[in-house]
Amino acid sequence: MIIVLKPEITRKQETTVLKEIRRLGYRPHVMRGVARIVIGAIGDELTHQSLETLSTQFPEIVESVMPVQKRYKFVSREAHTADSTVPVRGHEVGGKKFHVMAGPCSVESERQLLMTAVAVKAAGATILRGGAFKPRTSPYEFQGLGVKGLKLLAKARKETGLAVITELLSENHADLVAEYTDIVQIGARNAQNFQLLIAAAKTGKPILLKRGLSMRIEEWLLAGEYILANQNGNLMFCERGIRTFETYTRNTLDLSAIPIIKSESHCPVIIDPSQGAGRADLVPALCKGAVAMGADGLLIEVHPNPAAAWSDVGQQLSLEAFAKLMAELRPLILAAGRE
Ligand code: PEP
Ligand code: MN
Repeated sequence: MIIVLKPEITRKQETTVLKEIRRLGYRPHVMRGVARIVIGAIGDELTHQSLETLSTQFPEIVESVMPVQKRYKFVSREAHTADSTVPVRGHEVGGKKFHVMAGPCSVESERQLLMTAVAVKAAGATILRGGAFKPRTSPYEFQGLGVKGLKLLAKARKETGLAVITELLSENHADLVAEYTDIVQIGARNAQNFQLLIAAAKTGKPILLKRGLSMRIEEWLLAGEYILANQNGNLMFCERGIRTFETYTRNTLDLSAIPIIKSESHCPVIIDPSQGAGRADLVPALCKGAVAMGADGLLIEVHPNPAAAWSDVGQQLSLEAFAKLMAELRPLILAAGRE
């Protein structure tokens, strides 16, 4: 921590602050400038009280207290300068190959899921998405098929060879969901449910962490830190739109998060344009933007009959629209230096 003292403070005041820094378990190093004194304090905040309170404790003496290091360590680029890749059933997310995860918002039936799986695979997707446990705003909306949905995902994986991603909603389901899925999705509503993040990390499965509805990028990186700090290095960040004042879209898809996460962190970045816009007609343009801006993959909602979907009607692509989009994306993926 860097502690900046106010100008023209007395020796006695300086000593008071130094004593308090030592009492809290930190080693102070005094730097005397022309106009003011700056103190560098070395110590571990995990095991000691934070020094941030010094400015409220000594308002006449301390001007500001600033951290030297970023609050996140393991997810930061400083910890790992190369891009990290996440192994998923023989694939590598974050490597040269661009990955498309596609499938319905919710698993509804064997027929719906299998039809979608076969079609998205034929169009070039490598990972099948589908919610078995659904986080719905209203308790009176379809909550997902639960275990039956997980079993259908496993069946679709067996029949198509696609890897599977599905959401984990509860710590109680961590082992159950991990048994069936290749990637554990942490949804926007749970992005700061820290006990859930720890339970997800402990399954050892790759984690896709959505950005919360009103989450700052620093908070998102810190949520990701919970995964890496719990001995799970296989983390992907997924931007899915944030809540703003705009009403033409369900959320505002923040594509600037791609270069920001890429420079702050080494973890792969996935874009979800479906929750991002809430509008199927906008999905193709947003996908193209994401590819151009350096995303490592996409998470797209696809349904054989979008108008009859049990959740998120209006934002899912038909099988045909998805195939057309994949063909349009191919040259852009190549131009972005990916495969
Ligand atoms: C979803 O992927 O269907 C979903 C519920 O996502 P989010 O958590 O981003 O809303
Ligand atoms: Mn959805």
